[in-house]
Amino acid sequence: MSGSPTRPDVIVIGAGVIGLVTALCLRERGMSVQVWTRDDPWQTTSSVAAAIWYPFLAEPRDRCSAWGRVTFLRLQQLARDPASGVRMQSVVEVFATDEPDLWWAGQVPELQRLHGEQLPAGYRAAVRVQVPVCDVPIHLQWLLDELQHKGVTLVQREVANLHEALSVADLAVNCTGLGARELCDDHELRAVRGQVLRLAKVQLPHAWIDDSGERPCYLIPRSDGLIVGGTAQMGDERLEPDAEDTDRILQEARRSFPALRNCEPDIVRVGLRPYRSTVRLECVDLENGKRIVHNYGHGGSGYTLAWGCAEEVASWLAG
Ligand SMILES: Cc1cc2nc3c(=O)[nH]c(=O)nc-3n(C[C@H](O)[C@H](O)[C@H](O)COP(=O)(O)OP(=O)(O)OC[C@H]3O[C@@H](n4cnc5c(N)ncnc54)[C@H](O)[C@@H]3O)c2cc1C
Repeated sequence: MSGSPTRPDVIVIGAGVIGLVTALCLRERGMSVQVWTRDDPWQTTSSVAAAIWYPFLAEPRDRCSAWGRVTFLRLQQLARDPASGVRMQSVVEVFATDEPDLWWAGQVPELQRLHGEQLPAGYRAAVRVQVPVCDVPIHLQWLLDELQHKGVTLVQREVANLHEALSVADLAVNCTGLGARELCDDHELRAVRGQVLRLAKVQLPHAWIDDSGERPCYLIPRSDGLIVGGTAQMGDERLEPDAEDTDRILQEARRSFPALRNCEPDIVRVGLRPYRSTVRLECVDLENGKRIVHNYGHGGSGYTLAWGCAEEVASWLAG
């Protein structure tokens, strides 16, 4: 990371997936962009995510459907380039009810309902879809490389007030995730704790999502192993891994996949999802002619919504 002497058109605050993708979209529209971040990109919530395209803990549904659709198409395109760390992945989602609420299904090109022998035992319904998955270590590095290649500077800087950015540029985009709670005094933002494990070198033929129980259970194959989750603990801000959570996550995964009984995690990580009753994507015009766009509160769907939200920001700021 370094400083930049020139005055940029826009400052993007935040270097999680939302900030990085927003910066890239703005740069692609010809704007000069600087990214400011308190944390190293590898220490953000985004660096912990399972990063499958799947709308979870994000509202409102109509806007999330539109942002999710744009993001799906962009990630599908990126999946053609292995260097991007994005690939299309078959995923099975199982349900405890006959008529699951598949409100997001219109955004994926093909959805197959599983019946008879194809239906996993113990469930009332299941679907199979092909969705993008971001291999986080590769994809975040790809985003950082793209930005650097296109001349976007990353500056390590904590902001106490958004006007700090507006003293350097006329436009600022606030992509601070949970940090917006203090920065905007936004008491609607809440942390939803997520713990995930990595089982190194373990693979499954497809990803698996079971959100029918008390806790979400998901298994996402990645190039470096299997990412297994999880928890969704509202208001819990503990960043250290919890041994009981680890045991429960493993137990639930092994119930559906007994072959995992001898596999132990080599990495356990925790992230705090920035949850809000609605994602805040809003452009505020200030009296002095400057503008701030808020782009935060993506809950459990940052990777699922990032490109759709970023395109909307770019349409406001880059015209
Ligand atoms: C366990 C887990 C699994 C997940 N799985 C998925 C999934 O499969 N699919 C999916 O779509 N989503 C998933 N998510 C959700 C996703 O990770 C989040 O929605 C996303 O990371 C939010 O990104 P963000 O850029 O808004 O925030 P963050 O990644 O938290 O980044 C915030 C940035 O803002 C900066 N910042 C904050 N405050 C300040 C300040 N005052 N000054 C300067 N900089 C500041 C930080 O340093 C950081 O750079 C998961 C999350 C968790 C925890």
